[in-house]
Amino acid sequence: MVIAGLKVLLIEDNAADAELIDMLLSEAGREQFLNYTLKRAESLADGVRALGRESFSVVLLDLGLPDSSGLETLLRIEERAHHIPVIALTGLADEEFAARAISIGAQDYLVKGKITGDSLYRSVLYSIERKKSELLLEDSEERFRAFFELSGMGALQADPSTGRFVMVNRSFCELTGYSRDELLSLSFREITHPDDWPEDLSEYGKLLCGKMEQYDREVRYLHKQGHAIWVHVSRTLLRKADGHREPIRVLGIVHDITDRKRMEQEIIEMAHHDALTGLPNRRLFIELAQIEMAQANRNNKKMAFVFLDLDRFKEVNDTFGHEAGDQLLKEVALRIKKSLRKSDTIARIGGDEFNIIIADLARAEGSAEIARKIVESFRAPFLIAGHELHVTASIGLSVYPDDDQDMETLFRYADIAMYHAKETGKNNFQFYNPSINVHSAQRIKMESGLRQAIANGELLLYYQPLADIRTGKMVCAEALVRWNHPEMGLLEPKDFIPMAEETGFITTIDEWVLEAVCRQAKLWRQAGLPPVCLTVNLSSRIFQKTGFASSISRVLQETGLPPGILYLEITETLAMENIQLTASQLAQLSELGVQISIDDFGTGYSSLNYLKRLPIGRLKIDRSFIKDIATDPDDRAIINAVVAMAHNMKMKVIAEGVETESQLDFLRQVGCDEMQGFLYSRPLTAEKFVELAGNGNKADCGAGL
Ligand code: C2E
Ligand code: MG
Ligand code: MG
Repeated sequence: MVIAGLKVLLIEDNAADAELIDMLLSEAGREQFLNYTLKRAESLADGVRALGRESFSVVLLDLGLPDSSGLETLLRIEERAHHIPVIALTGLADEEFAARAISIGAQDYLVKGKITGDSLYRSVLYSIERKKSELLLEDSEERFRAFFELSGMGALQADPSTGRFVMVNRSFCELTGYSRDELLSLSFREITHPDDWPEDLSEYGKLLCGKMEQYDREVRYLHKQGHAIWVHVSRTLLRKADGHREPIRVLGIVHDITDRKRMEQEIIEMAHHDALTGLPNRRLFIELAQIEMAQANRNNKKMAFVFLDLDRFKEVNDTFGHEAGDQLLKEVALRIKKSLRKSDTIARIGGDEFNIIIADLARAEGSAEIARKIVESFRAPFLIAGHELHVTASIGLSVYPDDDQDMETLFRYADIAMYHAKETGKNNFQFYNPSINVHSAQRIKMESGLRQAIANGELLLYYQPLADIRTGKMVCAEALVRWNHPEMGLLEPKDFIPMAEETGFITTIDEWVLEAVCRQAKLWRQAGLPPVCLTVNLSSRIFQKTGFASSISRVLQETGLPPGILYLEITETLAMENIQLTASQLAQLSELGVQISIDDFGTGYSSLNYLKRLPIGRLKIDRSFIKDIATDPDDRAIINAVVAMAHNMKMKVIAEGVETESQLDFLRQVGCDEMQGFLYSRPLTAEKFVELAGNGNKADCGAGL
């Protein structure tokens, strides 16, 4: 190959060496270097100056100059003329030194004394060519860097084995809120929203190890400030150009798609929500209803489908305009919502029609309470555009699974019931199944009546004596509540206690009973009646009230009664329900000196062994076991065993519902301690009870009274 116009700068202080090079060049140049020129500089400073003035094709550089020596010399030249190939001239045949010269920029090195015309020619030729391609590469790298930096998209390079960022551009920094330095200490994993980590984390691994060449995903990154940003990430692997093609970098391009995602979300919302009220629309409601139905089914609960239609909404629209109509619908949605529980679902399914799911019902009638609340919520006028509008609603309900199990049928039934509500004068609710209407109306009446009952003095206490089986003497009396209903007459607990338990009003009743019993006991004591222990039934609700034990102690103090006079009856199921809470409450009570009995024993699933851990003094065997003892040998065996075990555990055993002499005989035989039942006495009014107690029946309750 012939190189024309070659310009050589020789930086060499030794004149003989310089001459030799010149000679060798001209020797080689005869054939290959057409009209080459050689310029000589005798020191580094000279050389640098020459480079400043002219341009050269190649620099031959002696590494031992008067003003600089070694690799330093090379660095200085590189600084000055990075684009010109440099060949180092060295007197040392030291490979390591030469290799270092090459690593910091020299294209080649020649050992003085071993240079021939040919080797000089080859070295110059290769150096020029290599420099050229080096510059080309640098140029393309530079272009890549510029593109990387300036493209509007986030760009990054990461380490394929760890996922750590090794290069990030400004847009990526802006996108994530981190500085470049901060990002360089993070990896993909740390800036990806945990919900968007691939389920199979090895997916990262696969990408990084080069098993997955391309990767395109929409994921959430975490901005430095903590919020999520949606991005589209395209990643690819940069590989080594050698045969192994080992991945050296992960290259990623990241687009911010947060706005697009938000729009998508809005579109989804719009497809599922009513734009006016923001409530779910019919489509979403059906989806939600299906979920609720499955849940009700699983939990063995009921749920009500409600169809609500405003009465005379059209008139409002026609009279006050659509805007007022819209405003009214919004207000209506708010009022309905307020009447519902969190677990209920409401949707606007068109015009002035709303659908509601009342979920998680134990009894169908439970939904009547909510329907009534909704009807009542319409009582106050709506303030719309300066007008007070009186608007009412008609409501129809159907109940899953009682009325049907099919959703469409239930909707239809609720709709039919709603029309029925319109027919019966609007502004009311109706069940599809009319018997629930009757039932729920009664119930609602009873419920509000019960709330008044205490204030109206309609609650009464009856007292049923408990007698010692051996002596036949009364030892105690159980207070049993009655409701003297103004219309229905004297109601027994079964007529109102379950309802009171459901609504939570039972705690108020129990508190009233406790106080009334203590007041009564005090009066009897003051009247000189023989002291008698009194037992009071407690519902599980009151037991969950913290501070319950101290409220009992307060009542006892106020009435001045010794705590030993009071027995509290709790049911077996309650004792087992929340064993920890029960144990601590019972411990406090027994510390007070109040005695605890387990009521209706045998109807739950507790083992005596378990009850042993609670401070229980008395066990009342449920009436259902006593009823058939004359005929059922199983019941006899059970009672026998219970008595023996209870005695073993130092508990007294009381038989409930003893009605016959033969029952009593058996109980006496097995050593049962006390009895309660019609055989001895029915529950009595306070007056009747005083007669019985005062009638020579000396009470002996064993409490040292
Ligand atoms: P209980 O605590 O097991 O009360 C005994 C029930 O058995 C009483 O029914 C009583 O009248 C009835 N009984 C007693 N001896 C016999 C008999 O020989 N034969 C028959 N067939 N029945 C008999 P009552 O008064 O209707 O009370 C029913 C339940 O209501 C009570 O069962 C108790 O669990 C609950 N209860 C009563 N008063 C209250 C109260 O003030 N608070 C709470 N939370 N529950 C109460
Ligand atoms: Mg009882
Ligand atoms: Mg009982």
